[in-house]
Amino acid sequence: MKECPECKVWNQDDEESCTACGASLGSVESVSLKEGESPVPETNDVVENMFSDKNKPSISYSEKYKTARMIGQLVSGVGWVAVAICAIAFLMALVNSMDHHRSIAPAFLVLSGVVPGLSMVLLGQITQAIVDSADHLKEMLEIIKSKNKTGFTM
Ligand SMILES: [Zn+2]
Repeated sequence: MKECPECKVWNQDDEESCTACGASLGSVESVSLKEGESPVPETNDVVENMFSDKNKPSISYSEKYKTARMIGQLVSGVGWVAVAICAIAFLMALVNSMDHHRSIAPAFLVLSGVVPGLSMVLLGQITQAIVDSADHLKEMLEIIKSKNKTGFTM
């Protein structure tokens, strides 16, 4: 089969000029097609390719970033535990100070211990946010790449 360079109509190999528009097919290379095969990709095939291209990277990237995300969750989890322990210690110190009619200032010193805990929570959240945005960015780039591959433009 020969595809007309002018109107994209498929012509038989022995045709010298296009049966539709009459353009010369002399320089057009013949393409052999299997029985029943469509010269133009079916719309369904294109849609299927788009979906498979879209699904593949999102799965692999999620796997790649899973560990980093888990570390972020672990860090913020440990941070929350540290904050909780400090809060309890603060309340106990506060109650103890008041019971013995002493200054409650030392209790607030204990409360300052939540700072490293909260820092860990923050660090963990930031790590997760960075991992998530890097993950999504890679996904988007992969989708754009696969779209260009299949001839789609943004
Ligand atoms: Zn033609």
